[in-house]
Amino acid sequence: MTPDWQTLVRPNIWHLAPYSSARDEYTGTDANIFLDANENPYNRPNNRYPDPLQRELKKHVSRVKGVPVQNIFLGNGSDEAIDLIFRVFCRPSKDNVVAIEPTYGMYSVCAAINDIEYRRVPLEADFSMRSDQMLNACSKDTKAIFICSPNNPTGNAIDRKEILNICEKFSGIVVVDEAYGDFQRGESLSKSIDEHPNLVVLSTLSKAWGSAAIRLGMAFACEEVISFFNKVKYPYNVNQLTQDEAMAMLGRSEDVDKWIRMILAERPKVMQAVSLLPCCVKVYPTEANFFLVKMTDADAIYQYLCNRGIVVRNRSRVALCGNCLRITIGTHSENSALIAALRQWN
Ligand SMILES: *Cc1c(COP(=O)(O)O)cnc(C)c1O
Repeated sequence: MTPDWQTLVRPNIWHLAPYSSARDEYTGTDANIFLDANENPYNRPNNRYPDPLQRELKKHVSRVKGVPVQNIFLGNGSDEAIDLIFRVFCRPSKDNVVAIEPTYGMYSVCAAINDIEYRRVPLEADFSMRSDQMLNACSKDTKAIFICSPNNPTGNAIDRKEILNICEKFSGIVVVDEAYGDFQRGESLSKSIDEHPNLVVLSTLSKAWGSAAIRLGMAFACEEVISFFNKVKYPYNVNQLTQDEAMAMLGRSEDVDKWIRMILAERPKVMQAVSLLPCCVKVYPTEANFFLVKMTDADAIYQYLCNRGIVVRNRSRVALCGNCLRITIGTHSENSALIAALRQWN
């Protein structure tokens, strides 16, 4: 559904006159003496402020992801885009958001920080999502629905028909977090932003692209949403070192494809080995670079692995994930060490 933008955006943001930096104001191309930003003329190249809109980097993202530059927002991790959704659309202590449960923890943390009610809709027993249940949880003050696919920590992808059904019927923002989309079969929902102006698709260089340290997240959405994000973000939210390294990484998609292939080749072997252990109750299917596993005693096994220098994620206190550990696929030798350690558990 096409939102009524003025009712969806917070009034203070709608009327905001954004900060205009020196680099925003001068838009020409022929100047070569820059005395406008109080920079130090020495210590090149880091003396200069970076491009606030990351235009060069967006061209690379556009080429690799197949999304037009005007539909791209870049941030300090996808976490920045998640936070901006609250700051742009949600009026503190009035509005609410709806999210699948269990899912990535940042949505509820950002909701709490921004003083926004967070409505959790439990997934089905097989971790599938029902769009009617999500829509039923909404009120007139629901500004966004958060869906993570493939979902963290469960690993399964959410049915695209169910997601698109929500996009059609909901008048607010539908956020689809595809942090693990590179590991998934099938097309990214970023290809559907033209038909669905309320759809915001998140992506990141932190997982398949092997670049969690540089902090680069992406949001793909219609131009209106991108313009609201740009209005509210910090002026220089992506530093030049990150922009340079991200452009270098985006030129290495063959390496990334190779890493994905290696991880996806390891994944069924690790899952099979874990499923045969006496301490394993159930291994859940996954489309990500991790899997969820129900154990006989997750807390004790988690502690045992820690004592052996192997850290997995204990998800046993998360809804629907009692006694579950979340295990990331590592290198072949890391995975072998994990399995060897688990075989010695009793
Ligand atoms: C890891 C992860 C991210 C990545 O966040 P960044 O800030 O880009 O590192 C986003 N969403 C989910 C669901 C994740 O698991």
